[in-house]
Amino acid sequence: MSLLELTNVTLRFGGLVAVNDVSFNVEEGEVFALVGPNGAGKSTIFNMISRFYTPAEGDIFYQGKSILDREAHEIPQLGIARTFQNIELFEQASVLQNLLVGRHTHRRSNFLTDMIFTPFVREEERRHREAVEHVIEFLDLQAYREKMISGLPYGVRKVVEMGRALAIKPKLLLLDEPASGLSVEETQDVAFWIEDIKKVMGITVLMVEHDMHLVGAVSDRVMALADGRMLAIGTPQEVQNDPAVIEAYLGS
Ligand code: ADP
Ligand code: MG
Repeated sequence: MSLLELTNVTLRFGGLVAVNDVSFNVEEGEVFALVGPNGAGKSTIFNMISRFYTPAEGDIFYQGKSILDREAHEIPQLGIARTFQNIELFEQASVLQNLLVGRHTHRRSNFLTDMIFTPFVREEERRHREAVEHVIEFLDLQAYREKMISGLPYGVRKVVEMGRALAIKPKLLLLDEPASGLSVEETQDVAFWIEDIKKVMGITVLMVEHDMHLVGAVSDRVMALADGRMLAIGTPQEVQNDPAVIEAYLGS
């Protein structure tokens, strides 16, 4: 069984077919990349998996079960975390606070259940703090821990955004353009982290990325899209050498 499976998924925005009959599987333990020119439908695919959008046709399976009956707030609880192409952090809060609030998208809490389950909540809280500390160490964020997001350089915010997703200890991590706007050195760090997220943390990664060096370095498999349609799927090398892919890139 694949960890994630999309079958013949289509999504339209009015007359525009943003995602057109797309199917692919992500296997447990792999890094799978979605590539393609701007407007290809990559972020829209993430938004469907996150359940912000519902496909008009097709289905999305996670651990063998359709998630189309799930709401967006339930997705992190299932073990699926994501980052956003445009960083979405609380500007007026510290790095630590941002990593800690990741949990509230994770568990819908209310006063009554917190009263009843206080010992359970405390234990969960403790484990979450532990996970956050681990992420701070893993991503080398110690120096920025108490710093407010609004004062941080772009490259650091980008790392915090990834940390917030990792802090919920997902099984599947969706990274939307993790290297966009980063320097060559910062992109290299991202490549090392993705390797470790896969190998050390055992997390499966689905990413959207433009930097083909990064894609080639870290991905097990790649799917190329253009105008919402699948062009090719295979190893990074197979996809890069695919005539339809070369044409889509040159024509864009
Ligand atoms: P990518 O991430 O591959 O650059 P997107 O998935 O963001 O592409 O967009 C795919 C297409 O859908 C584009 O033509 C884009 O303009 C359109 N689109 C994306 N989101 C919306 C939306 N919320 N409303 C209308 N059109 C949208
Ligand atoms: Mg996008």
